Amino acid sequence: MTVIPLNPASPASHAVGIDFDLTLVEHRNGWQDGRIYGNPIPGALDALRELMRRRAVFCVTARHRRYHPDVAAWFVSHGFDAIVDDDPDRAYWLGDGDRLLVTNKKLGAALYIDDRALTFDGDWNAALPEALRRIGECHGPVVGPADPVPAAGRLGLWRIDPGQHAPTRL
Ligand SMILES: [Mg+2]
Repeated sequence: MTVIPLNPASPASHAVGIDFDLTLVEHRNGWQDGRIYGNPIPGALDALRELMRRRAVFCVTARHRRYHPDVAAWFVSHGFDAIVDDDPDRAYWLGDGDRLLVTNKKLGAALYIDDRALTFDGDWNAALPEALRRIGECHGPVVGPADPVPAAGRLGLWRIDPGQHAPTRL
């Protein structure tokens, strides 16, 4: 786990990025043509307030820009001040009072919170099989890459056998 404390010289350290759909808002009845109808996921609003007390927070969404005003309106309806990102060159969000930014850019951040994320800790021998599992590609033997510099206790290849969720070293 990487800890990135606030560092005045690092703009990325000032911000936390949070996904919208299925991270902050529920989808109990599917996508519904993009209509934002769901309730906040339990605890989401309190967590958002707590994070905003400590860091600049932006909501990063893969939704098309035409939905961004609705996303911002959802935050406003729940008591937050939110604006839509209109800067095509923005790389960071350092905050603007207690204002939350809605964007579709992967801005520099100390942390991302996303229901679809896989944390990468520097080890592709662990990340690749987990990535394959999460996209439902563990049906046949999958042979992974050889370590360019084998570490102690590691073998260079692994595979995932059908029905298994953990890789087997070869
Ligand atoms: Mg999501």
